[in-house]
Amino acid sequence: MKFETLTIHKGIHRTDSNRPIVQPITLSTNFEHGSGPMIYTRAENPNRSALEELLAAMEKGTDAAAFSSGNAAGTAVFQALEPGSHIIAPDDMYHGLAQSMKTLFAGIHEVSFVDMSDLQQVKNAIRPTTRLFWVETPSNPLLKISDVRAISALAKEQGALLACDNTFATPVFQNPLDLGADIVMHSSTKYFGGHSDILGGALIAKEKSDFWKKIRAVQHIGGAVPSPTDCYYLARSIRTLAYRMRGHAQHAMILADFLSQHPKVEKVFYPGLKKHPGHEIAAAQMSGFGGMLSFTVIGGAGEADAVVSKLQLFANATSLGGVESLVERRAAVEGPNTKTPQNLLRVSVGLEHTDDLLEDLAQALG
Ligand SMILES: *Cc1c(COP(=O)(O)O)cnc(C)c1O
Repeated sequence: MKFETLTIHKGIHRTDSNRPIVQPITLSTNFEHGSGPMIYTRAENPNRSALEELLAAMEKGTDAAAFSSGNAAGTAVFQALEPGSHIIAPDDMYHGLAQSMKTLFAGIHEVSFVDMSDLQQVKNAIRPTTRLFWVETPSNPLLKISDVRAISALAKEQGALLACDNTFATPVFQNPLDLGADIVMHSSTKYFGGHSDILGGALIAKEKSDFWKKIRAVQHIGGAVPSPTDCYYLARSIRTLAYRMRGHAQHAMILADFLSQHPKVEKVFYPGLKKHPGHEIAAAQMSGFGGMLSFTVIGGAGEADAVVSKLQLFANATSLGGVESLVERRAAVEGPNTKTPQNLLRVSVGLEHTDDLLEDLAQALG
């Protein structure tokens, strides 16, 4: 089945004798003993099982686990690792997950943060205790590209796992399991939900290994699971993911081209642009370049803030992946120690008509 078909037809358990077209929401927290495999909703629920079946199919995995947020999903991977493990992670890793490693796992695991788009840096960081390579590509906010196949070869040589945060690309454009990853992570809050109204996360496994069984234990014993209602709405949103992603990527390319030619813009970061340093690797491992881009405004923080305040259609807000366009000056959010340029604006390109988006950008840049 092609992606569009499976996202519409997978993960619907039509057990009701009236045969409703959509699966009803099963709010019950508990199930009668002896009637079926389900006992308690923290361990299993019909809507979560349906969603997990859908997620596994989308990423071509053998199993999936849904969590209450992307951070809960990522943290579950670190929780499942043997204490004393060494992790190699990107120096521009999603800040919430870098925080998880630095705070919750300080003294439990060791982490080396390196530029994962530079293979030599990844190689140099390997230690005998390295158990996990963590990749996020395209990355945030510079849209850096890591070579998933090459890093997978390094991980295999080391007998370590490779996990890939696929939130920006989505399985519409990139399937990390096909590129050699063992685990895929998603913040479903972003493109999967797609309407800025559901918090969620997911892990998808290539194989039901012992490590995966530990992740399942973290999920149902740790209990960071999504509600049946959230699972229902997330599955509903996923039914249109392929069409939304194509729109996001098409619009992002149009905006990236416009910004590249604008005299008030210093630099544009979008992997679809031929001049982007990761363009060739991106083209080899992705079938589209996604809906996120960043650009620097000539000047400093003040000039960048002025553009944000003049924009009408782009809300000044964090997060990404919704139908509405968003803009954010990342350095202001990331705090005083950030390496992100002060004049950089990150854009989540929405599904409004590009004529309107371009007109708004043109007036705000002046
Ligand atoms: C948002 C995000 C996360 C964290 O997900 P939450 O749902 O906010 O917990 C992880 N990785 C990436 C790339 C993200 O954008």
